[in-house]
Amino acid sequence: MNDVSLINQKKDILIIDDTADNLRVLSAILIREGYNVRKALNWQMALTACQTILPDLILLDIMMPEIDGYEVCHRLKNWDKTTDIPVIFVSALDDVFDKVKAFRVGGVDYITKPFEFEEVLVRVQNQIALREARLEILKLNTELEQRVKKRTKELEEAMQKLQIEINSRRELQSQLLDIALHDSLTGLPNRVLFIRQLEKALSRAKQDSSFQFAVLFLDCDRFKIINDSLGHFVGDELLIAIARRIQGLLSPFDTLARFGGDEFAILLENITGMNMAIDVAESVLQKLSLAFQLSRYEVFMNASIGISWGNNNYEKAEYLLRDADTAMYRAKSLGRARYHVFDPDMHFKAIQILELENDLRRAVERQEFVIYYQPIISLATGKIAGFEALVRWQHPTRGLIPPTEFIPTAEEIGLIYPINIWILRNACQQLKIWQEYSAFSQDISININLSARLFSYPELASIIDNIVSETQVNSCNIDLEITESVIMENNDIVRGILQQLKERNFKLVIDDFGTGYSSLSYLHSFPLNALKIDKSFVKRMQDNQDNMGLVPAMIGISHSMGMRTIAEGVEIPEQLAQLRILNCDLAQGFLFSKPLKQEDVLDFIATNPQW
Ligand code: C2E
Ligand code: CA
Ligand code: CA
Repeated sequence: MNDVSLINQKKDILIIDDTADNLRVLSAILIREGYNVRKALNWQMALTACQTILPDLILLDIMMPEIDGYEVCHRLKNWDKTTDIPVIFVSALDDVFDKVKAFRVGGVDYITKPFEFEEVLVRVQNQIALREARLEILKLNTELEQRVKKRTKELEEAMQKLQIEINSRRELQSQLLDIALHDSLTGLPNRVLFIRQLEKALSRAKQDSSFQFAVLFLDCDRFKIINDSLGHFVGDELLIAIARRIQGLLSPFDTLARFGGDEFAILLENITGMNMAIDVAESVLQKLSLAFQLSRYEVFMNASIGISWGNNNYEKAEYLLRDADTAMYRAKSLGRARYHVFDPDMHFKAIQILELENDLRRAVERQEFVIYYQPIISLATGKIAGFEALVRWQHPTRGLIPPTEFIPTAEEIGLIYPINIWILRNACQQLKIWQEYSAFSQDISININLSARLFSYPELASIIDNIVSETQVNSCNIDLEITESVIMENNDIVRGILQQLKERNFKLVIDDFGTGYSSLSYLHSFPLNALKIDKSFVKRMQDNQDNMGLVPAMIGISHSMGMRTIAEGVEIPEQLAQLRILNCDLAQGFLFSKPLKQEDVLDFIATNPQW
């Protein structure tokens, strides 16, 4: 045993020798030097001595009866307790001492008799010091090992903690990811996840041409009304119910996602043809049309669905979605509660609309509009009574664009206000110029169309009033044409504006009369001055030679309400003649003149035409 605790104690030396003299001499020297010395006369005693206490050093005689020194050394070295104890051989000069054998069996040194004291001590000290150093190293090693073990354990514990931390973070991360990829209300995948799935389907289609898929884009019809009238709670409840119903119709291969609001998207995979996508759309529509029993209400819902057919020509997943969206809008404009399958033409049209919108914004900045003027004839005198201002767009590349092609878009994207105000100002300026020009034109008036959208500005009357005073024209020469839809609004703002315009002496004309839904009795309650019969009725006068269609009734009622009548779209002399018979007050149409360029108007006035 390499007992570390033996260091620093009194060193213990075991002398094994069968000669008592030797023992005595050696032990005397060593005891004097402070060693603890024990003696053994043979192997047996040596063994007992070692079993009692392990010595620090053994001095071993070679020549011994029975078991000689070599054999004793050999045995000591083979016994694990004593294997590390240094053995110094002791031999007489006349002994046949085999040094090689001595070292081979494990001896570390030798001393010879008669003993040279100094030499004996030095050799003993050396070996003891060596052993001590060895033991010290051993001790350090053990300590080091223990420290390493301890550190390893600490590290392992730290690693374990770290792993727990990593695991919990991972879990949190995947929870966050889950939140980021799902809609919190319905738990369905959201747009991001849907697009990922779509991308996968698209790349699969690129590899496997037999793989077919389709995208359905679904938007609830009039969901906003339910939200606004019954509250968001009910709205949310309904959305969850819708999600459930749709999900119930899908196969596990399909993905249903909610894009927020009332928009859903379905990715159909592994389908065999467009018919399957249409079948799904039809069953979704059918299922959604059934009453929803919510906790407090029974609600009815419809939806519009756009379908785009997946094919590997698509570069991006988003394009498929975009096309399904376009088709959905088409379904809505075709009357809602239906599906529509995307065809590439639609995309082209959508792009055109987008381009138109962009161009229009630029057109407003650069004032690319021009006004044409179409004369209005007094049927009593046969002379020019006024002009209607009709706007056109001088497009830098597409040429002159008629108002029917851009006014609806301008209204939709909120550009009608600046355009219409610009028209008002320019038309008034022109009127001023013409009125100053000649005696013929002192009393001419100008008809200006007002978009229904302008009536959402409560201050509209004073805005128009300001333009009129700026341009120094008289408001009684301004006829403002409004459509029936303005009247149908019938809200306090509209009534207020019309009243204010009336008080400021503007004249109010109902345009395109007969094409809207306003009833004549309804018109009565508004301060209107004139009624313009739509050109479609004037055209039909010819078809009904006998009763001339509805025109006589319109003129009659208009007069009975104290309003003047203007006939629009007069193209042939017969129409003029008939309108005269019916006492129509004013007429306008190609028969008299097409809308004129601004610079041609004065020449036209100068000819002082008469019909
Ligand atoms: P509208 O107010 O009913 O204008 C009359 C339209 O009939 C004009 O078309 C005119 O060119 C056309 N027209 C005139 N005489 C005849 C005829 O004998 N036969 C036929 N078939 N058509 C005739 P335009 O200029 O293309 O304007 C179309 C519509 O655009 C206008 O209908 C009006 O609703 C709108 N619009 C035009 N200018 C303005 C404007 O300055 N502001 C607003 N808000 N709308 C405008
Ligand atoms: Ca008009
Ligand atoms: Ca009209």
